[in-house]
Amino acid sequence: MRRFQSYIDGAFTDGDARFESLDPATGQPWAEMPEAREGDVDRAVRAAHRALHEGPWASLTPTARGKLLYRLADLVAENAQALAELETRDTGKIIRETAAQIAYVAEYYRYYAGLADKIEGAVLPIDKPDMEVWTRREPIGVVAAIVPWNSQLFLSAVKIGPALAAGCTLVVKASEDGPAPLLELARLIHEAGFPAGVVNVITGFGPTCGAVLSGHPLVAHVAFTGGPATARHIVRQSAENLASTSLELGGKSPFLVFADADLESAANAQVAGIFAASGQSCVAGSRLLVERSVKDRFLALLIEKASAVAIGAPLDRATEVGPLCTRRQIENIDKLVARSVAAGAKVLTGGAAVEREGFFYPPTIIDCDGIPSAPALQEEFFGPVLSVVSFETEAEALRLANDTAFGLASGVFTGSLTRAHRLIRGIHAGVVWVNTYRAVSPIAPFGGFKLSGHGREGGLAAALDYTRTKTVWLRTSDDPIPDPFVMR
Ligand code: NAD
Repeated sequence: MRRFQSYIDGAFTDGDARFESLDPATGQPWAEMPEAREGDVDRAVRAAHRALHEGPWASLTPTARGKLLYRLADLVAENAQALAELETRDTGKIIRETAAQIAYVAEYYRYYAGLADKIEGAVLPIDKPDMEVWTRREPIGVVAAIVPWNSQLFLSAVKIGPALAAGCTLVVKASEDGPAPLLELARLIHEAGFPAGVVNVITGFGPTCGAVLSGHPLVAHVAFTGGPATARHIVRQSAENLASTSLELGGKSPFLVFADADLESAANAQVAGIFAASGQSCVAGSRLLVERSVKDRFLALLIEKASAVAIGAPLDRATEVGPLCTRRQIENIDKLVARSVAAGAKVLTGGAAVEREGFFYPPTIIDCDGIPSAPALQEEFFGPVLSVVSFETEAEALRLANDTAFGLASGVFTGSLTRAHRLIRGIHAGVVWVNTYRAVSPIAPFGGFKLSGHGREGGLAAALDYTRTKTVWLRTSDDPIPDPFVMR
């Protein structure tokens, strides 16, 4: 079995305890992970706090910080193959996906490397002739970055990159499911030359590690990606310390297909939107809203594509749908499918776990027409399950699109430019993709509305979220201060 270690205060350590990680393709243990509990969490946060205030990091120029980030980006690119294989091995995400995603990870680090010396304050045109007033953007403090299993290298890069660009230090908590790639990334962070304590990488379980971290009194900001229930815990835990939070949560994203769309292209995008990554994607286009006149034609196309998908070993380049990360995921999906069927929904394809070792679930399509309360239309599967409902008019499509507690992403497929603009304005979601789906860039902000969270990752605004503003007043007059009892 491979052994992984935590990275605390610039050193690799075995941790408070250890646990086994299962290979999702076989269901068998393959590696031993360090489990951080209160002691490790406290050591890591204190190391980050020291690095923020006392170590060499505090006096590095932003340009020098950027250079370290460039070095990390290069190391990620040089080690892309090994990192992708590790992520595939530990989480079951197919190698085609992890290999492509790791290229983006390097790009995100590069983007924030370039931003490090472009975070500016402002000189304010105050209406007082004897005052110079300006703002400074200072690092917000120690950041707790907590990520779920599904894309740990990517979801941590969108936090580590902007936080380091802003001058913060971090404790990164990998998910207890599939933490290997993030623990390995720590070796590259070390090699890049970041001073001890600037980035600490641990893993552990929610109640004994994540909860201690997000409630730690020295943590100033919690950057979280995961489910809404955990997010509520985190907000409660961080309230004690009044730490700020950014929350990237789940979704039940609508995928709207109008009769005037290019149906072949929309079907391909829908396959990418729900079956890629076995549906374990926060932006999964898991609710297909299709115009009634083309419903049968579009579903026939989709079912044909879903049935032809190559299910197999995640390290095999020919595989298109690999295993889910955990057995728990299969159990959750089974329950949600059963409740939806009990409510009257019809399974059109798939609908039961694949009979082979490992945690495999096939592409599944469920027709929920006429049952708006079907659980499959409201709750997140986080698996390769598409729920379908049809509409007659654009107004009905928009009403259905917004009939969800979530608001992360959405897709609109139409040949009409004017319709697309109306829907862009009307949809309550942080991302609208028109005639495309699942496109990302470090330059574009990403995040949710409603129960999908708040705060944005990507773009300049994300780096500013890791700063706090200090306003400086400097009096330029040598005259004595006039009447001290009057506010100036
Ligand atoms: P989760 O919320 O169960 O766990 C996420 C992380 O939180 C893990 O590291 C876990 O250990 C930690 N955690 C659990 N309890 C905690 C607590 N009390 N305090 C602090 N930390 C705690 O999520 P999951 O099931 O691993 O991941 C799936 C969810 O993540 C889905 O809802 C999915 O939509 C969402 N997600 C969102 C995005 C996005 O960018 N919006 C991206 C990927 C996944």
